[in-house]
Amino acid sequence: MNKRIVVAGGGHGGIATAMLLAKSGYDVTVFEKNARENMGHDWTDIFDKKGFTCLGLPLPDESLYKFKHDMTFYGMSMRTPVTQHVPEDQLEIQMERKDIYNHLITYAEKAGVKFVYNCPVLGPVMAGSRVTGIETENGIEYADLVIDACGIHSPVRRNLPESLGIQREVGPYEQFYVYRAFFNKTAEVDDVNKYKVLLLPENKKGISWVATEEEWTDVLIGRFHKLDMEEVERTINVLRKDNPSLGTEKLRGGQFVNIPVRQPLGILVADGYAAIGDSAFMTVPIIGSGIANTLKASKILADAIMKDTDMAYTAETLWTYQRNFYKELGNGLAPMACIKMMMAHMSGDDIDYLLSTGVLNEDDMTITADTNSLWAIFSYVPMDVLKQKAVALIHNRKIIRKASFLIGNFAKAIAATSTMPQRYNKKAVLKWVKRYNNSFTL
Ligand SMILES: Cc1cc2nc3c(=O)[nH]c(=O)nc-3n(C[C@H](O)[C@H](O)[C@H](O)COP(=O)(O)OP(=O)(O)OC[C@H]3O[C@@H](n4cnc5c(N)ncnc54)[C@H](O)[C@@H]3O)c2cc1C
Repeated sequence: MNKRIVVAGGGHGGIATAMLLAKSGYDVTVFEKNARENMGHDWTDIFDKKGFTCLGLPLPDESLYKFKHDMTFYGMSMRTPVTQHVPEDQLEIQMERKDIYNHLITYAEKAGVKFVYNCPVLGPVMAGSRVTGIETENGIEYADLVIDACGIHSPVRRNLPESLGIQREVGPYEQFYVYRAFFNKTAEVDDVNKYKVLLLPENKKGISWVATEEEWTDVLIGRFHKLDMEEVERTINVLRKDNPSLGTEKLRGGQFVNIPVRQPLGILVADGYAAIGDSAFMTVPIIGSGIANTLKASKILADAIMKDTDMAYTAETLWTYQRNFYKELGNGLAPMACIKMMMAHMSGDDIDYLLSTGVLNEDDMTITADTNSLWAIFSYVPMDVLKQKAVALIHNRKIIRKASFLIGNFAKAIAATSTMPQRYNKKAVLKWVKRYNNSFTL
């Protein structure tokens, strides 16, 4: 096998796909902008452990992870706490991000993946409409296939020719601007308030969380608008009033980062190119969890590449990845982007109303990184509960107006995903993606 596969970006998706391919004898090199010791943010992540097992990897040593605590949601008024109840067998694991990377990289290196660190990727190298490599700060690297795993603002995706129909930029309300840091813990809290998520706090478009862990108190501020340090400090001071566990000494983190919260990228492939993970917006749009989906997508991508026995790596042959990703994950994720869009257009009062009247209850808030479709949330809702929700909604015309947007777009999103072309045909795919993207606009 002498064809060369290049992975741009050593995130979860890039490393996992590279590992699966190298294990089967492919020549794979990962180009990562950071040094090895700086890989992975300085924080913990929560994700579905099936992310590891679907790759055929064992779970890390038990000392490296713990099971996640249920979250309690509050609206702006802080009056109605709604605590989720994740069944024990579906509990996600919480791990240091650096340990997730260590686990993946150990197995990738064992499989024969080559890593080039300290090597920022600048963009794709094109020959006509085919991606034939990547341009890096250290020179050009030619490849038969480029896997784009460079994250939400991937310079590969953003510099593809427009004619490929692959969306290059992230639109308004499609990403969270996030600040995250761990502060000293200054008080114990009861179980219900251990992991608090505030929806539209202070009537701001976004969320804040305050998670009181054993060693520190973890704060995340996520907004649909750009954050600066002044807003962060003001927001954290407001949070301190209601959260005695939140100290003033910053122990870890403190970065500004972005999370995609939108429908998956419409077209994932081109000749010589496939996008994965945050580059292809594979997070759960309502909560921004992306690790498990990205790892699961790695398996789907690696399988599609291996199926292409002629090693043509064209949009036609890679379309199997597109189809299978949508079938297994994307078709469920896309309609969730409509719910996110509706929530982004609600006010703090609207959310308070939904929580206090039970329209949003603990069952609805039991969304985990493994929740890949709305049916998984709503399919079991008993008829009497549905009726109660409907009655509460009927009394609030303002919310009904906003929800009608949701229902219309929800139907459009489902219709669009179900009519994705079976086979790649450029004209048909470009027509389809236009319809798909239009399902999520206001
Ligand atoms: C604050 C925060 C908290 C989160 N918490 C969770 C959580 O608890 N659970 C969960 O499931 N998900 C969480 N996510 C989302 C999760 O981080 C992503 O969905 C996931 O990491 C996607 O993996 P990826 O491989 O696609 O991309 P990334 O992890 O973004 O990896 C991209 C890689 O490419 C590299 N790179 C970027 N640009 C270049 C370049 N120009 N040249 C070379 N290399 C480059 C980066 O250094 C990085 O290594 C969180 C995200 C944030 C920001």
